[in-house]
Amino acid sequence: MKLVFATHNKNKFTEVKAMLPKHIELLNLDDISCTDEIAETADTIEGNALIKANYVRDTYGLDCFADDTGLEVKSLNNEPGVYSARYAGSDNNAQANIKKLLVNLLDKEDRSARFKTAIVLSTKQKDKMFLGLCEGEITTELHGEAGFGYDPIFRPIGFEKTFAEMTLAQKSEIGHRGKAMRQLIDYLSK
Ligand code: IMP
Repeated sequence: MKLVFATHNKNKFTEVKAMLPKHIELLNLDDISCTDEIAETADTIEGNALIKANYVRDTYGLDCFADDTGLEVKSLNNEPGVYSARYAGSDNNAQANIKKLLVNLLDKEDRSARFKTAIVLSTKQKDKMFLGLCEGEITTELHGEAGFGYDPIFRPIGFEKTFAEMTLAQKSEIGHRGKAMRQLIDYLSK
């Protein structure tokens, strides 16, 4: 079974591919020669996942799922949220995004935050959405080298390590994307 994961991000693709049953041939946007800039114009995480999955299904005629993730920080009115990639500008610069977040939290006591992943599966028949949440807190300094994005400053509840100090397997087990992915996998396995 061929299924497109609507991403160019090699980190995410590897993370997700490792979780899928082997009978699913997972393709990314490069594999289907999709170089289009899919405009993520929705103002919600869920809306952007829907736009991406629908675009690939409708343009290429292939079953597709897309994810969109955001980091919601409680004391910052759930910022950066849907703007997580471009929090400090338009170029998805993780270092700059982290720096901005740490500065904005300097005078806040409550550092609780959560990652939210929305996955939309678009097939010829219908669209289906899966949500994964991971609650935690923002550390005051960076810890760890693994992962990407905000991983070095996000410590999930009940753990002493940040995501960037965990193995990919550990992160997938407790993380937002893993939770949403497992729902997708259960659905695909039925
Ligand atoms: P995307 O929707 O998955 O592309 O995620 C948007 C942005 O959220 C990324 O550019 C990262 O800054 C951040 N992000 C998404 N997933 C993660 C994660 O698992 N760890 C840390 N940051 C993430």
